[in-house]
Amino acid sequence: MKAFRVEAAEIAGVVEIPELTSGDGVLLQVKMVGMCGTDLNTYRGRNAMVQFPRILGHEVAAIVVEAGGDLAAGTAVTMSPYTSCGICPACLCGRVNACQRNETMGVQRDGAMTEYIRVPREKLYPAKLSIKELCLVEPLTVGFHAAARGRVTREDAVAVFGCGGVGLGAIAASAFRGAETIAIDMDDVKLATARRAGAKHTINTGKDDLHARLQEITAGRGPDVMIEAIGLPVTFRAAVEEVAFTGRVVYIGYAKEPVAYETRLFVQKELDIMGSRNALPEDFREVIAMLEAGRFPVEDAVSAIISMDEAARYLAAWSAAPGKFTKIMVEM
Ligand SMILES: [Zn+2]
Ligand SMILES: [Zn+2]
Repeated sequence: MKAFRVEAAEIAGVVEIPELTSGDGVLLQVKMVGMCGTDLNTYRGRNAMVQFPRILGHEVAAIVVEAGGDLAAGTAVTMSPYTSCGICPACLCGRVNACQRNETMGVQRDGAMTEYIRVPREKLYPAKLSIKELCLVEPLTVGFHAAARGRVTREDAVAVFGCGGVGLGAIAASAFRGAETIAIDMDDVKLATARRAGAKHTINTGKDDLHARLQEITAGRGPDVMIEAIGLPVTFRAAVEEVAFTGRVVYIGYAKEPVAYETRLFVQKELDIMGSRNALPEDFREVIAMLEAGRFPVEDAVSAIISMDEAARYLAAWSAAPGKFTKIMVEM
C-alpha cells in the first residue's frame, strides 16, 4: 500500500510499504490527514524527536473497515496519536497525556499517512462530523487541554497569547466554556478567525497597548486566566505581569531560550502557574461536542486540501514560506 514518508530533511514522497497483516487493533481506512507546524518541522529536519525515515500523520480522519467491538464497519472516527507507558509518575496519577515515555504518531513512531492502519479501540473517537472536521479534532484538543488546566469557567476572563492552531483551540475552548475570551496576536486575519471561534475581544499588539486594553476589558483587574501559546520570553513574562491577583497562568508554547522573570509576582499575586502538554480523552470528547454544535469556523482553519501525490511539493512550498499555510489537509 501507499504511504507518505519523509526520508531525510527536505526529502519526502509517496512510497510503497507492505500491506497490513492481521493483528491487534481496529482496521481503518485513512481518509484524510492534517499537517501542522510539527510536520513542517519534521520535514525540515528540525524536530529532535524524529528519526528518519518517518511516515507522517497525527491528525487523522478514518473509516472503520472491519467491525470491532462497539464500532460498526463504516463508522467515521478520529484518534488520539499518543501512547502512554502506564508506569511513569504521570501515567500513575492518570495524567497519561504527559507520559514520560510518550510516542506520538508521525513523530517518535510512524504515523497515519498510509492507506490503512490498525489502531487500538481505546485510541478511537467516533463522531458525527465531516472528514475535514475529524482531522481538526486532535489539533484543537491541545488548546482545550490548556483551558482545562486553567480550570476555565463562565466566571472568568481568559486572555490567549497567539492565534495559531494551538491558540485558536484555547480560544474556542474558553468561549465554549462560557468565559469572556480575549485573543491576542499581531495578525488581523488570525484575530478575525479568533472572533469567529468565540473571542469577544481582540488585541493586536502591533497596534494596541496590551496592558491598557487588558485593564480596560477587565475593569482594572487583569484576566483571571492567561494562556500562552507562542513560546516567546516576552509573552511568557507578560502572562504573569498581566494576569489578575490569584489568577492562573497556563503555558503551552515551548520557549526556545531561558526566560528571566520577576518572580516576586508569583508570590505577591499567589499565582497558579502551569504547563500543558498534549491532551486527555475528555479533551477529545469536549472538542467533538463543540464541533458537533457547529461552534468553530472550520473553513478558516484549513489552508489547503491536497492529494498525497502533492504533499511533497506543498511541504517544500511551506518550508520556503512558513507563513503561507497554517494547516494543510491531505486526502489519502
Ligand atoms: Zn499537529
Ligand atoms: Zn507513562
